[in-house]
Amino acid sequence: MSVVTRFAPSPTGALHIGSARTALFNWLYARGRGGQFLLRIEDTDKARSTAENTQVILDGMNWLGLDWDGDPISQSGNAERHVEVANALLANGQAYKCFSTPEEIEAFREKARAEKTSTLFRSPWRDTQDGDHPDAPHVIRIKAPRDGQTTLHDEVQGDVTWQNDQLDDMILLRSDGTPVYMLAVVVDDHDMGVTHVIRGDDHLANAFRQNLIYEGMGWDKPTLAHIPLIFGPDGKKLSKRHGATGASEYQTMGYPAAGMRNYLARLGWSHGDDEFFSDAQAKEWFDLDGIGKSPARFDFKKLENICGQHIAASDDAALLHELRNFLTATGSDELTKAQFDGMARGMYCLKERAKTFPELLEKAHFILTNRPITPDEKSSKNLDDVSRGILSELTPHLQNASWTRDALEGVVASVAETHDMKLGKLAGPLRAALAGRAVTPSVFDMMLVLGQDETIARLQDASA
Ligand code: GLU
Repeated sequence: MSVVTRFAPSPTGALHIGSARTALFNWLYARGRGGQFLLRIEDTDKARSTAENTQVILDGMNWLGLDWDGDPISQSGNAERHVEVANALLANGQAYKCFSTPEEIEAFREKARAEKTSTLFRSPWRDTQDGDHPDAPHVIRIKAPRDGQTTLHDEVQGDVTWQNDQLDDMILLRSDGTPVYMLAVVVDDHDMGVTHVIRGDDHLANAFRQNLIYEGMGWDKPTLAHIPLIFGPDGKKLSKRHGATGASEYQTMGYPAAGMRNYLARLGWSHGDDEFFSDAQAKEWFDLDGIGKSPARFDFKKLENICGQHIAASDDAALLHELRNFLTATGSDELTKAQFDGMARGMYCLKERAKTFPELLEKAHFILTNRPITPDEKSSKNLDDVSRGILSELTPHLQNASWTRDALEGVVASVAETHDMKLGKLAGPLRAALAGRAVTPSVFDMMLVLGQDETIARLQDASA
């Protein structure tokens, strides 16, 4: 059996980081098994679903690199088919027309409350014959079992049992003939050939209601995996209070997508002690039995740590490409050709220990900035008269040096020695002259990336 998974977001707001993780789990499960990963936009709530929100979801998926097969499916586009299935259930006796008015239903509930019995509506129309039906507005309800219990197997939660007297005859078609969401989900999953439903455990109760439709139609049921929600560091449901909750916010904070995928995969799923892994490894390893039963806690430190490892391990060209996308996403200036080339030359020394794109750009400041360099407050303290004098003494030596790391180290070391200084003492003034910053890549890396002419010009500027 070939695996088909789906991600089924409702476009009623931003793409929540928890939903992004749901999408990732479905993507990993399908991609690791040569299966299909489908995207269905659950836009039946017309009042709250917007085209902008749909676009935000697609953008988020694209940013995270979660590619789906085929075109995204719009649930509202399948309404006719949903109605057809409701009618099929009516025809095969698994559903019925209910003519109870809202007032009658409310009266039923009031009485139940007074008598302290179940307020789940029990329609008097469940067992009537067609011939007895009035010509009046009605809904179509499913016939749910009233006795016994239902057990569903879930790959994460195990066997979950529900008492059938807790199920009501849910509405399939409203009195205006429109299908309800619960019906739409099942019909679409069936028609899309979904074999595995992997989603948040806030949908676990829905699974029992949806099960009625599978049973009524005699359809094969998908394998279920309801994954625990994500909590904040304090053990409460992840919310704004803990920091960013929207996937796009992580994009604009500058986390690399590969690091994000790695971190989100580890959030609620584990493979032994592995923390840092590639997509290929995640696809190979990901399985439903590695998903934990208790909610994972979002740990910003861990996210940064993993992202830093991914930046360091990234291919330079791929990293530059992603950096450009980051600049576009944040509305920042594009890199000029010279800046781009400089970053391409310097990427080897920039990508060590940068956890986000803003950190990478900060390390690249010496490349991105132009002469004359204006030292920031901290680094300007390293440029006193004495150090300026030494920089100016260094310049002619550099003019004659061959531009290799060994030669540059030799030149700087010998000038330091004539002043009875440790080489490290010269690093501060050199950083100030070359980058205008106190924290930079190593001075020799900067010299190599800037080249001889630019390095000397900056030292002359600083010592002038
Ligand atoms: N549309 C639902 C949501 O956004 C998901 C439904 C499902 O996965 O079955 O929470």
